[in-house]
Amino acid sequence: MLCGMSEKLRYFLQGQIKASGPMTISAFMSQVLGHPEHGYYMRQDPFGKDGDFTTAPEISQMFGELVGAWISDVWLQMGKPAPFVLLECGPGRGTLMADALRATNKVEGFYEALEVHFLETSPTLKKAQGKAVQTHKPQWHDALDTVPDDKPLIVIANEFLDALPVRQLVKTRDYWAERVIGLSGEAFSYGLTPFVGPVPKKMKAANEGSVYEFSPAQISFTERLCRRLKEQTGAALIIDYGETRTMPGDSLRAIYKHEYISPLEHVGEADLSANVDFEAITDVTQKHDVSVFGPVEQGHFLKQLGIEQRAAKLVQNADAQQQEDIEKALQRLTESDQMGSMFKVIGLTHGPAIAPAGF
Ligand code: SAH
Repeated sequence: MLCGMSEKLRYFLQGQIKASGPMTISAFMSQVLGHPEHGYYMRQDPFGKDGDFTTAPEISQMFGELVGAWISDVWLQMGKPAPFVLLECGPGRGTLMADALRATNKVEGFYEALEVHFLETSPTLKKAQGKAVQTHKPQWHDALDTVPDDKPLIVIANEFLDALPVRQLVKTRDYWAERVIGLSGEAFSYGLTPFVGPVPKKMKAANEGSVYEFSPAQISFTERLCRRLKEQTGAALIIDYGETRTMPGDSLRAIYKHEYISPLEHVGEADLSANVDFEAITDVTQKHDVSVFGPVEQGHFLKQLGIEQRAAKLVQNADAQQQEDIEKALQRLTESDQMGSMFKVIGLTHGPAIAPAGF
């Protein structure tokens, strides 16, 4: 069945290209991931051993618990607003939110004050999220616009921005051209088309063949988020992989059953994602006059929040196998050669002076 479905996505994309010519990487990415019927996220649960990839909250409950501690701490610093909107963007299976809420059940007044909202487009994942946090009666949104704008806001987003489409420019001998996807026979293939538009100054000296990636979708999401924080006051925590500074490189990746493959293969059956450019994100937040903390590495952030102490505590009540799992999870989340350095964290705040933990 899976095959049949992605076949339909392939026909759809081939039809688009035959009718209107090669498409940008971002148009391709947004259809592959988000096509309302045949998109990757629309029809399957991509996570875990049997899926395509594993995210931090799926590795260990410690991740969500510490994010829960971060949220409740920010809420206390904000002066315990009640009610407030707790919004998660791209919640996957809902594991992060479930762990965060379980870890905060003793924070006085917190449960009574919070309204759980999810930004999510996948029907399959919405179901999983509903099960995971049933008792908190979450509400879903396809876009930020419909999230209530009349109360303070705390937002979390883990591996959400990397799923938003990117465009790619390639330096040819004399100018930058945009990478597009066309057809060679029935197979997808890369091509180039002239690009008209600004390229950051620091890319000027790039060598022939260099790739510059940018994501209007990540930027416009961040802009809307900043506007909301200014209107409503509050804080946001963004965790994702990428570089602290804008740099050349092709980071578009397709992951299929835990293996990297070409983005042009297994179209619709493989996850597509790209690095987040944290310099570009930070620039936007500064333009909007929102306070920015970080980016810092995930390993640093989690250690500041006490992941080592939390692991030690969990180990006390665990059998030998569980102890080994906890130790492995701790390493995977924090060590530089694993997720500890590649993943970065930024905090955004607006309103009463808040010093979010972890930076
Ligand atoms: N935060 C989760 C899942 C990350 S995967 C975790 O850490 O496990 C990306 C998530 O973002 C999925 O839930 C996916 O369905 C959602 N998503 C991707 N593109 C989206 C979009 N344009 N709008 C809303 N949700 C989106």
